[in-house]
Amino acid sequence: MFLSADKIHDGKKWLPQNTVIEVDESGLIMAVHPHLAQENIQHYPGILCPGFVNVHCHTELSHLKDAVPEHTGLTQFLQQVMQRRNDYSEEQKATARQAALQELERNGIIALGDIANTTDTLALRQSGNMHWHTFVEAIGFVPERAAHSFDYAQQTRAAFALQKNDKKILQQSIAPHAPYSVSQALFQQIAAHQSGKSISIHNQESAAENELYQSKTGAFLPFLNGIGIDYSSFTASGKNSLPTYGEWLSADAPLILVHNTFSTQADIDYAQAQFPQLFWCLCPNANLYIENTLPNIPLLQASDARICLGTDSLASNHQLSILAEMRSIQQYYPQIDWETLLRWATYNGACALQMQASIGSIEAHKKPGILWIKEDDSLQKLY
Ligand SMILES: [Zn+2]
Repeated sequence: MFLSADKIHDGKKWLPQNTVIEVDESGLIMAVHPHLAQENIQHYPGILCPGFVNVHCHTELSHLKDAVPEHTGLTQFLQQVMQRRNDYSEEQKATARQAALQELERNGIIALGDIANTTDTLALRQSGNMHWHTFVEAIGFVPERAAHSFDYAQQTRAAFALQKNDKKILQQSIAPHAPYSVSQALFQQIAAHQSGKSISIHNQESAAENELYQSKTGAFLPFLNGIGIDYSSFTASGKNSLPTYGEWLSADAPLILVHNTFSTQADIDYAQAQFPQLFWCLCPNANLYIENTLPNIPLLQASDARICLGTDSLASNHQLSILAEMRSIQQYYPQIDWETLLRWATYNGACALQMQASIGSIEAHKKPGILWIKEDDSLQKLY
């Protein structure tokens, strides 16, 4: 098949006018032709681009859609999620996860960076055509529990690692949950077992996280108290969270920093210098939902940060749509153009998940999925 469009984005940039994509029935790109004198070229009014990559999602929380109110702030939100996540039957949870997967596919998402605290998503990973990198979260703020927390995460990761599927990419790694929920000992244990695989972490999602690290004060103390966590051995570093825990992680593997709503210029400079394979994953609709704020995206751009996009979970978002995340960014930062946004949504996301050899860009020998964004802004997956 030969496809052309008003505009074609190959995952990195707009391609010149008159470009024709040659694709086989399975969606494999055979060639990208700058010009082609051919009669049977199918022309699409609107945009063609690769399938979207959602770098940060929690499909296992899909049953919490509309369960937590908006704009409560992060500690309140976390408390609500912990209280409510087990108030549902296994059947309700499974039905919600399946519906979420269908929504992701309908919205042109072909690969997922998915957070798992349990093995609840095992069956979901096997169904459908989605590529997965499952980040099995290690959580534990009490240093004495580090080995126990890590063993639990290892067992969960091992269950995912047993899964095989010839038709799609299935990857997994152990990732730290967040700076306020992972001790230095646990960070170091994760780093020691990282072996070059991508990891992600919720980073600087609230001002309170930096306050905890700067001076051991702020909203996380009553939060930790409330859930029975003994934080007495934690000591403030006098620095923000990122430059503190960054020293406890391996610099050799890809690191995905998620949210970054309260990252300063100094934090960005530190991380850019420290981690050669660094990605800044933005989930603007979740930030608006929880804290009613957004990261300083122009600051990240000015620092040459590699940006990618995620939806976070249905507990903190009204939909699982990368296109909706792009529209929100455009609404608040209209100077960021679609060429840039589409790169974040496709190629950069594939690189963050280490899947760029197969997906993320329209190039010969890849199978990136092809999306048609129509003139009325609706979306259809062609391959
Ligand atoms: Zn998250």
